[in-house]
Amino acid sequence: MNSKLFFAFLLSLPGSPQYFEALEPHMGTMFEIKLYAPDEESAKTAFQAAFARVAQLDNELSDYKPDSELNLATKAAVAHPVHISNDLAAVLITSQMISEQTGGAFDVTVGPLTRLWRQARKNHQLPTPEAIHEAQQRCGYRKLHVDAKSQTMTVDLPDMQLDLGAIAKGYTADEALKVITKLGIHSALVAASGDLAFSDAPPGERGWKIGIGSSDRVLVLTNMAVSTSGASEQFLQSGGKHYSHIIDPATGMGLLNDITVTAISRHGLLADGADTAASVLGCEKGMAFIEKNTELAAFISEKVNGQVHSLESSRFKQLNAGTQ
Ligand code: AMP
Ligand code: MG
Repeated sequence: MNSKLFFAFLLSLPGSPQYFEALEPHMGTMFEIKLYAPDEESAKTAFQAAFARVAQLDNELSDYKPDSELNLATKAAVAHPVHISNDLAAVLITSQMISEQTGGAFDVTVGPLTRLWRQARKNHQLPTPEAIHEAQQRCGYRKLHVDAKSQTMTVDLPDMQLDLGAIAKGYTADEALKVITKLGIHSALVAASGDLAFSDAPPGERGWKIGIGSSDRVLVLTNMAVSTSGASEQFLQSGGKHYSHIIDPATGMGLLNDITVTAISRHGLLADGADTAASVLGCEKGMAFIEKNTELAAFISEKVNGQVHSLESSRFKQLNAGTQ
């Protein structure tokens, strides 16, 4: 693995924790870890253990790797239950819960559609209505069954494809942070592009300073996860329209609205799922979904005709007030 380690000393008192950071490419993006450790040796040990956990989760949860647990289990689970790992079960159980709460706006069975749209972005050409219709027949969260008790999954049809791109990085950030905490390092931050998870405040600080979405807001937080999803991060431009990489499962089409959602939760798994879910639902319905879930806070902004319209959930306002 092509790994880069950076070490930086802060102006620190003897014996006080020092700042270290490291970067590695995983899951098609860069994972960055920042932490405060007593010495270089313990920082190195923590980086190695955390990145090893990230690599393990990539092998389990990737839809790009043909031999990932996700892909092998989906193939094997047609019409009969297949035992799955704790990690895959945890991600799928929360995914299905968010699907239920959003009437299927969030749906990890959208794999056939996301593959079609990935190809469309490469070819700079919209998928045909026939291809979208065909892919939609192989999607639908009700065709996926996850049993928590027996820790199994079943799918109703062959050629289904699960895509955990909306939720896996949040879970992975959580899990990497847990590894670091277990090694006795209590002030750390793991970032995987738009998904952050962090523990106690840096020494002498009130918390980690976290920028919110594309706004100029900064919250100072500890022991939280913050995930941002931008509909216009990746898109296909056709006929003067921008089709997002986030798909509305109801239509099979990439979102057309320029929405950015930052979701905050104690759990990265939930924050990452929720940012995508609220993006599909749109500002008002997305905010209603966030308000209903007591584990979530969010800041949602949408650009309409060059004007930015933004909404803050009640728990976001509380977190913001606590920051001042
Ligand atoms: P995020 O950046 O967290 O919003 O995740 C975006 C990714 O989620 C996309 O690149 C797809 O892999 C996947 N995805 C797209 N649409 C949906 C959807 N409606 N429900 C669940 N996952 C989706
Ligand atoms: Mg997400």
